[in-house]
Amino acid sequence: MKVSFYKHNLGDTEKASVKNSLSLEFLTTGALVHQFETEFSEYTGNPYTVGLTSCTAAMHLALLALDIGPGDEVITTPMTFAATTLAIDHTGATPVWVDVERHTGNIDAEKIEEAITDKTKAILPVHLYGQLCDMEKINSIAKKHNLYVIEDAAHALESVRNGVRVGELSDAACFSFYTTKSITCGEGGALTTNNKELADRVRCLRTHGMSSDASKRFNSSYNHWDLVECGWKYNMSNIQAAVVLPQIDKINLFRDKREQLFNVYLDTLSNISEVEFPTSVENSVHGRHLFTIWVDPACRDRLLKHFHDSNIGVTVNYRSINLLSALLTKYKKDRGSFLNSEKIGDSTISLPLYPRLHLEEIEYVCSKLHEFFKS
Ligand SMILES: *Cc1c(COP(=O)(O)O)cnc(C)c1O
Repeated sequence: MKVSFYKHNLGDTEKASVKNSLSLEFLTTGALVHQFETEFSEYTGNPYTVGLTSCTAAMHLALLALDIGPGDEVITTPMTFAATTLAIDHTGATPVWVDVERHTGNIDAEKIEEAITDKTKAILPVHLYGQLCDMEKINSIAKKHNLYVIEDAAHALESVRNGVRVGELSDAACFSFYTTKSITCGEGGALTTNNKELADRVRCLRTHGMSSDASKRFNSSYNHWDLVECGWKYNMSNIQAAVVLPQIDKINLFRDKREQLFNVYLDTLSNISEVEFPTSVENSVHGRHLFTIWVDPACRDRLLKHFHDSNIGVTVNYRSINLLSALLTKYKKDRGSFLNSEKIGDSTISLPLYPRLHLEEIEYVCSKLHEFFKS
């Protein structure tokens, strides 16, 4: 048997939608992107959505639109994909990592205040594996110290905690439609916000800082455009929007399916004493983006190889990013700086989890895990 780490859910609807997009006059940002923005806002409940080329772009532009740059500090987590920190680095600001909670892997809100200095401008939490951080606490710290909050919501499209939805208690939330995310167009992203001015500025920055986008320039009689500020090229295209649009209606269905499969994994693996699982907090909707196990660091890499030899796709989300060469060289936070993040980073393996995963495939993955710890 072969079990892929991830399979997307694109089908005939998405194929028809792309085919249609290719006969539109504008392949770049236009009607379909605007429709995506409207429908995505309806789904998330955040009034403004800006379609972009990635979540990294969304975080970068959110920071820029909040005037964060050289000399500023942004508090974030080392237990994430490198992009979270790189988005801060792109602006010239300094990422300041705060260690994570041992049992969830999310930024430890209790430790945020001691990291705040007079240079701190924002907090950039990541909702790891799909579990919302304690946004009420993070928001109250931000209010007290007059800081912005930007969410890396790449795992957390569906997430709610204590009635607080993703993107509700922050200045902006950043989503990814990268290949392995719960809805995808290969590469893509979006920023949502409750702040119209912020949305307008991000909309301008996504197309170089021009005063109007292509469809507006070509659809009316010629008007000179101006370069309002020096921006970036991060605009979502109609083709990307065509792929992602039909999936919006299926987000909750996909999540519920992953939740079922997640529980099958938990039931099947709960009797292996060598395996630990991240804690799911109560009173929340978990995005169930990844199914993660934590094992003894002494055997993690051997277990990765065991899965690989058994034709099972697995990955590591994530090694603590302070230890990645370029970031270690630049920010000099060596081993021992973030004990919980490093411990998780040394222990973690993500197993396959997606709606099209079959029960027999989960059984096979679990049997290989049992086999490993028996031998
Ligand atoms: C996927 C991911 C990103 C990057 O998303 P892109 O759309 O590829 O830029 C950022 N943060 C986290 C936590 C991710 O999983």
